Parts: sequence; structure tokens; C-alpha cells
Amino acid sequence: MAEKTMKIVIIGGEAAGMSAAAKAVRVNRDAEVVVFEASEIISFGACGLPYYVGDEFQDHTYMAEFTPAQFAERGVQVLTSHRVTKVDVANKQLEVRHGDALISTHYDRLMIATGASEVMPPVDGLEKAGVFSLRRMDDGLRLKQAIADVEHVTVIGSGFIGLEVVEALVHQGKKVRLVERAERLIPDAFDAEISTHLQTELEDAGVELLLAQSLQAVLGETAVSGIRTDQGEYATDLVVICTGVKPNTTFLQSTGIEMLGNGAIVVDLQGRTSLPDVWAAGDCASIWHSVLGQNAYIPLATGANKLGRLVGENIALVDQHQALTFQGSLGTSCVKVLGLEAGRTGVSEQEAEGAGLNYKTVVIKDKCHTNYCAGQSDIHLKLIYDADSHVVLGAQMLGRKGAVHRIDALAVAIAMGMTTQQLGMMDFAYAPPFARTWDVMNVAGNVAK
Ligand SMILES: Cc1cc2nc3c(=O)[nH]c(=O)nc-3n(C[C@H](O)[C@H](O)[C@H](O)COP(=O)(O)OP(=O)(O)OC[C@H]3O[C@@H](n4cnc5c(N)ncnc54)[C@H](O)[C@@H]3O)c2cc1C
Repeated sequence: MAEKTMKIVIIGGEAAGMSAAAKAVRVNRDAEVVVFEASEIISFGACGLPYYVGDEFQDHTYMAEFTPAQFAERGVQVLTSHRVTKVDVANKQLEVRHGDALISTHYDRLMIATGASEVMPPVDGLEKAGVFSLRRMDDGLRLKQAIADVEHVTVIGSGFIGLEVVEALVHQGKKVRLVERAERLIPDAFDAEISTHLQTELEDAGVELLLAQSLQAVLGETAVSGIRTDQGEYATDLVVICTGVKPNTTFLQSTGIEMLGNGAIVVDLQGRTSLPDVWAAGDCASIWHSVLGQNAYIPLATGANKLGRLVGENIALVDQHQALTFQGSLGTSCVKVLGLEAGRTGVSEQEAEGAGLNYKTVVIKDKCHTNYCAGQSDIHLKLIYDADSHVVLGAQMLGRKGAVHRIDALAVAIAMGMTTQQLGMMDFAYAPPFARTWDVMNVAGNVAK
């Protein structure tokens, strides 16, 4: 076997890390590519967990797409149950824990793809039996098993994961309570005009919403019997905490690597960190927000896969002048809540205001398609656009049908710098079962003043 010319080490074997590994071996056949993964599985898609819990599918192995053996066939050495505990940048050495053994290994080029972990609120009682979070495969297996034996579940936090968990529990016939600290649901992603419909949908399904309330303690002897918020005590059998994530980067603190305030590794548009020969991508890293024009923290599988692949290319290139440059993220994302679907892209009004942008908004309600075709329903669309140039900066859409895939068209519009006038005349497809002659996106563009 020919001797390898460089050793690429990747820390973390899920979306970002395995995308990078797969690309790196294709780009540079002479490179040795090694992945260290702390857990026992790789290529795990956590996005499936709420649907597994909600019984959309039964075989949990669907969520881990590839095995280490499959990657070995492609020329990638994957070492599971290997946790990197230290990076010595000056000597390009890693300290890796495997069981009781502590291994030292060299790298020429390093990628950090260690993802994120759930943030647990600073309250008493989280150690009680019946308190769950949902991040790893094992969390999903345990939660699904536990809910089988209970009647009432309380979910803390109404972000994407919290809402998906609520939906799963409703599907499983549970009585569900959702506690949210803010005054409305999913406040970081959607403005009030959109999130209010999600609230109605959940209330109509019998979900008890405690808005503007903070969890203060989980109650019970050894197992959960209730929760206490800043406004009262409530009985429950099980608690699922969905209060956000934080980057897994504490093991890097002594390296002096540049981080955002929340610990996300700052990367440039080529995925390079502030350290020599070290790249990063995914939930452990920042990502360039192309509307805000700055690095942001957007922990999504979409960005992790794209940046992971880009880093895989760049880290393996012999000639770094050929390095690929990322076009930026729009934070495009979506969620399904019972009969409703909602999508967003670019900036919300809340973000535009926070960034001091000179913006205007328009909110309209229209129909998903022509009235004589079955299933016509409302679509709500909010556009955020530059007050002077009318360039579209953000969009949010919600409805029972056709809202989420339309948001992708608006992501393209934003990425291309389109104005509301151009959107108003954009040639979107029409046939009665799919749209109206003037699609809801045309209408919004035309009424934006
Ligand atoms: C329930 C749920 C639903 C989601 N739904 C969606 C969705 O619908 N759409 C979407 O876009 N995103 C979704 N996401 C987010 C998405 O799963 C993440 O953005 C994505 O997994 C990030 O991939 P990653 O490779 O950066 O990190 P991770 O998937 O977190 O993987 C990082 C890996 O690194 C390993 N690791 C950490 N530290 C070390 C170390 N020191 N040494 C070795 N290994 C280490 C970890 O064990 C882990 O396996 C969801 C997440 C969850 C939890």
C-alpha cells in the first residue's frame, strides 16, 4: 500500500464529521482520514427522533445511515467510543480516551465536528426518574419506552424540538402541557403573526399551554410527580426538557481557539478556525448569515451537512488556493405542528430589529390553491424587506398545505437579492390543485409598499 501523504483527523462522526470524511477521501486519495467518535454510532440523524417517539416509524436503526464498516470500505477509518479530550495545537497531537486507555495521536490537519449538547435549565429536580431530553439515539429509545406507561407529559421549551415532541406525544394519545418562558411559541424563529396560529392549533388539540412561565423545579420524591414554575405547581408524570443546545467545545478552551459568546467555534467562509490547520463545521461552530452579514449560531442539519462537505473538500486539498468558499446561510428551517406546517428563511422581524436594519414588513393571508379543488386552506405569509431598496430580507409562511416548500422559493429570492417588485412578477407555477394564478408569494410582493 502506498504511504499516505497527510493525516486528516476528524473529531465527531455525525452530520458534519461524516460529510467531511466522505468528501475528503474522494478529494485526496493519498490522505489518511481518521474519525474519532465518542459514542457508539455514526451518521446519526437526530432529526428523526421526535417521529420515532411519535410512532411514525418503529425501526430506530433507520436513524443511523451508515456504519463504520461501510466507511472503512470507502477508505475512512472510524473509531467509535473514542473521545478526544485534548488538542495540543503546537505539536499537532490529540489525547483520546477509549475506555480506560488514554491514547496520543498525531494529525496534520484537524476538523472539529463535535456538535452540541442540550442545555438543561438551572433548576432543582432534574435528576429524578422521568426527566428526559432528546438529543442522542439512546434518549429517543428511553423516552419512547417511558411514555408508554404514563398519561401526562410536560414539555419545557417551545423551539423546533419542543414543538415536534409535543406533536409526537399528542399522536401517542398523551395529555400534554407545554411550558414556554416567552409570551409566545417558538419566539426565536417566528414572529407573533405566524406563531399565534401554532398556539391555536395546539390549544384546539387540547394541549395545555403555559406561556410566559419559567420552570423552577421538577417535583417528586425520586420520580417526577409535578413541576413548579414561577406561577404555580402542576402535576405531571414525565418531563421532557427542550430548552436549546450549546456547542461541545469546552475541551478546546486551553487552545485559545476563537469562539462566539456561546462557545461556538468561529470559522471563516472556508471553514477555517483561528488555529493553524484546524477547520470546524456543524453545531459546534458558527456559520455565516448572509442577510445579517456576520457569523451566527444556527444549529441545523442543513448547515452541518453543507459546511461539513465543504470542509471535507478544503481540508483534503493539497493546493489551498483552490479552497471552496461558502455562500452563507439563511437559517431556512421548518416545522410541522399537527395539521399546520411553518417555514422561515432570512431574518425575522425580531432579528431585523435587533440588527438595526432599516426594514418594512407585510403580512398577508391568501389561499394555497384554487377554491374548486379539494382541500383549499389559508396560507399566512410575512415578508421582511429593506425599506429603501425593497430587497427581500426574510420570510415566514404557515398553512395546512404548501407553505414549507414555498419557503424554499423565497430562500432563493433572498439569496439572489430579489426585490418585492420582482417577487410580485416572478413566474411561479400554476394549476388549480397547486396554486392560484397569482400565487401567495406574488401577492405579498405586490402589496409590499
Ligand atoms: C430532536 C432533534 C431534531 C432535529 N431536527 C432537525 C430538523 O428537522 N432539521 C434540521 O436541519 N436540524 C434538526 N436538528 C439538528 C441537527 O440534528 C443537528 O444540527 C445536526 O445533528 C448537527 O450535526 P453535527 O455533526 O454538527 O453534530 P452532532 O450531530 O451533535 O454530532 C457530533 C458528534 O460528535 C461527537 N463528539 C462530541 N464531542 C466529542 C469528542 N470530544 N470526541 C469525539 N467525539 C465527540 C458526539 O458524540 C456526536 O456524535 C435536530 C436535532 C435534534 C436533537
